Amino acid sequence: NDASDRTEPTGTTVCPLCAVGCHLAPADGADADGRARGVAGPANPNGRLCAKGANAFESVADPDRLTEPLVREDGELVPTDWESALGRAADGLRDVAAAHGPDALAFLGAPHCSNEENYLLQKLARAVGTNTVDNRARLCHDNAAAALAERFGYPASTLGMDELAESDLVLVVGANPAIQQPVAFNAFVRGGDADVVHVDPRANETTRAADAHLAPRPGTDALFFHAVAAELLARDAVAESFVAERTTGSDAYRESLADVDAVRAAAATDVPAGDVRDLAERLAAADGVAIIAGTGVEADGGATARALCDLLCLTGNVGRRGAGFALFRGLNNEQGATDVGCRPDELPGHADVTDPAARERVADVWGFDVPAEPGLNEKEALAVFGDAIHGALVVGENPAISKRDADWTAERLDALDALVVVDVYETETTAHADVVLPAAVGVEKTGTVTNLDRRVQALAAVADPPGDARPDFETLCDLGTRLVGDGFDYDDPREAFDELRDVSPVHADVAVGERWGDDYRERFATPDGRAAFAPVETDVEVAADGLALVVGSRAGGFGATDATADDRLHLNPADADALGLADGDAVIVHGDGARLETALTVEDGLREGVAYLHADVADPLVRAGTASVEVTPASDAS
Ligand code: SF4
Repeated sequence: NDASDRTEPTGTTVCPLCAVGCHLAPADGADADGRARGVAGPANPNGRLCAKGANAFESVADPDRLTEPLVREDGELVPTDWESALGRAADGLRDVAAAHGPDALAFLGAPHCSNEENYLLQKLARAVGTNTVDNRARLCHDNAAAALAERFGYPASTLGMDELAESDLVLVVGANPAIQQPVAFNAFVRGGDADVVHVDPRANETTRAADAHLAPRPGTDALFFHAVAAELLARDAVAESFVAERTTGSDAYRESLADVDAVRAAAATDVPAGDVRDLAERLAAADGVAIIAGTGVEADGGATARALCDLLCLTGNVGRRGAGFALFRGLNNEQGATDVGCRPDELPGHADVTDPAARERVADVWGFDVPAEPGLNEKEALAVFGDAIHGALVVGENPAISKRDADWTAERLDALDALVVVDVYETETTAHADVVLPAAVGVEKTGTVTNLDRRVQALAAVADPPGDARPDFETLCDLGTRLVGDGFDYDDPREAFDELRDVSPVHADVAVGERWGDDYRERFATPDGRAAFAPVETDVEVAADGLALVVGSRAGGFGATDATADDRLHLNPADADALGLADGDAVIVHGDGARLETALTVEDGLREGVAYLHADVADPLVRAGTASVEVTPASDAS
């Protein structure tokens, strides 16, 4: 099937605000005022939208939108025409490559840009001669995605969201889908018959819809799930034929679990052995078990995500309907941006850039050779702006915000010889740019996005961009043609999608509207077709000092009622008391050289020993790699 032949949905597009991928259209009526109406689609079968999605058109008429290209003259950004701005952008990037070589350039894409835009950006980077191309989406669920790739072959959910309605047991781990992905949670989890068990250090809206809540001590989630697995083994509640036929490595895995002692595990995790037994019983009794995981499983380098994959394999709950691992991503095209190769180590379709056969496959279509060495990721690149990297093309990303401290980042950005930023608004990053190119938002574009269950869905331009703003796809075609020449002259995103299907094995047979990689039923996408068990680490050191930092998800889909999306530090009442702090007090949170000032919320639903911050404010600490923090009253600051 040829994607070019697909039928575009008329007047209907995909919600740009979270990775569920609900269908919507502008609301009828002259006074609709930026509101959307839901249209039934695979992710929103009832045609409902959440509160956020209902306002999906708000940004269209936002008076703060960028409406004309800007170039820096005498230190000031001044308006100009597209021709001059594109010429200046291409000259600046070309000069850097000429002076320092292509690896002196960095290309940063974004999870809210379309598949075709991210595809074009990574193709441009590779055509120029560097693999230093990345997007922020890669960071959000990187460990869980890597665990899924390692165990089952693809860094993606193994089952469709609709299958959650057929599950007997849904285990929600480190996620709050009732708020973050509300339409999926309501339609498929609450709309089904499954028991819901929520595992999270913080009781939240999902907990209220759950049958049980477990809150292991932060840092011990993996051990907790190993203890559940050990309990399943002790009960002989293992799907032996599945393990024998569809997995490898189970003997070594089982042996490593022999070290798990229920009493010691209960002490370390702070979850009573009875609750471990209860969860093992539920897992053994359920006919279909699905796991929903969010950013809460990211903190331990993937150990929790791997432990969850092991539980699914042990009980035969992957590779069949109603069972599997749903990676509940946040940003609308987080899955797609990495699927199409916008990362420094992978070509389109999650092909390893160091694999000569993969490079040859894309070179045959693209007509140029791809560099063989992986490039720098976003964090690594930013750290060498002005040293090894001298020019950057930033599309829809805002690295100036939330990366270490603002002064450090401003210095790095100012150290570039050429900074070209494509965005919808002026941002902290455009403030340092030499050229700023105004972009369209999702509802003003055509192309495709890929939602959290791997479904590729068509966007339709149901609104016009303001002024001279235009879709990134057109901007990247023009920049590519100026910088590289041939290979960037597309009439339409559909041509780029067809090309993607030629270079990416996972997209090859996928029509728009379908899910890629849906072949887990017969064999996994690992080299031998089997899911891979591996021995687990059961010695867990529980940090004695400080409060464990727990970071809430940045995911889109926040409704007006989202109690989690604030900029405060949350502490359990006992911890606040011990520190002599009260609700509303100004506090400083610090760890590993990073710090931030905020106010305190004292919250009953949080377990003791946890410092909870929303991702938007926690970034300086996250970037510093902080696992535990100290909290002091702001009045103590010098
Ligand atoms: Fe659906 Fe997410 Fe949009 Fe809400 S924000 S309408 S859940 S896609």
